[in-house]
Amino acid sequence: MYDIYQKTLSKEVSFKGIGLHSGKTSSIRIFPGREGTGIIFKRVDLNRNNVVEANYKNVTSAKLCTTLENNFGVKISTVEHLLAAFYIVGVDNAIVEIDNEEVPIMDGSSKDFIRVLEKINLKNQSNKRKYLKILDKIELIDGKRKISIEPNKSSLEINFQLNYENKIIGNQKNIIDFQSDNLDEVVSSRTFCLFEDIEKIKSFGLAKGGSLDNAVVVDKNKVLNKGGLRNDKEFVNHKILDLAGDLLLSGYRILGKVTCYQGGHELTNLFLRKIFDTKAFYVFEPKDFKASKKFQQKELEKLAVNA
Ligand SMILES: [Zn+2]
Repeated sequence: MYDIYQKTLSKEVSFKGIGLHSGKTSSIRIFPGREGTGIIFKRVDLNRNNVVEANYKNVTSAKLCTTLENNFGVKISTVEHLLAAFYIVGVDNAIVEIDNEEVPIMDGSSKDFIRVLEKINLKNQSNKRKYLKILDKIELIDGKRKISIEPNKSSLEINFQLNYENKIIGNQKNIIDFQSDNLDEVVSSRTFCLFEDIEKIKSFGLAKGGSLDNAVVVDKNKVLNKGGLRNDKEFVNHKILDLAGDLLLSGYRILGKVTCYQGGHELTNLFLRKIFDTKAFYVFEPKDFKASKKFQQKELEKLAVNA
């Protein structure tokens, strides 16, 4: 069953590392956040207008990573793997202070973030968590890319399929239920690219911090990283991780079955905008089952008296 109350960190944690695209080293310090405030980024290298909320409306670029930007043009990029860690561990509210423009890429997955967040206990807060429950199928088709969501009882399920000409990546497919499945392989799956695309990506001024330490690089029939892949479906598992992180930008935990074909950050963002336009969902706060059990007991006692 899903969690009832919002959660935040019990104490501060920090990370340091290189940014995948900027190539700049940054430090982040994550602090407990107040109820109902969500995930808030704060650029501590700037002293004005430096707060950026983790919300889908603030996504201004989603080409190869998700970039958030506030009304003053202050940006934070590559937020998705940290957000995925928050999604998976169960953090609802946090303040992320960062001294540069890009969240460190760490090893290209969410593993390091999750390891540290799991070590400290999360703290239950007094407000209930808000869930967005999908009522009707919503679909977005963009050329060959497709994403849809359908109602699902009590969890987020992601069904993802890739379609690459490259034989190693190929048509990898996986279905993950974020409530009931073991997420270890999803969590540790790294970002990836084709060797032949590296020059092109760099010509856009991106991937300046990219290396075999933080990305899987595939050259034709070969994975160039020592040790190869971490799991058989690492490519599609990473896309599932990205999608979970990007969905947290809705501001809610989503209960629905997502099916995605060849999607990415940009498609997910367009899709979130469509979901909120269609309004084919409702937002609810889960019942406190312990409390309702007590209530049922009282009702039964009443019945017994009446009988
Ligand atoms: Zn990613």
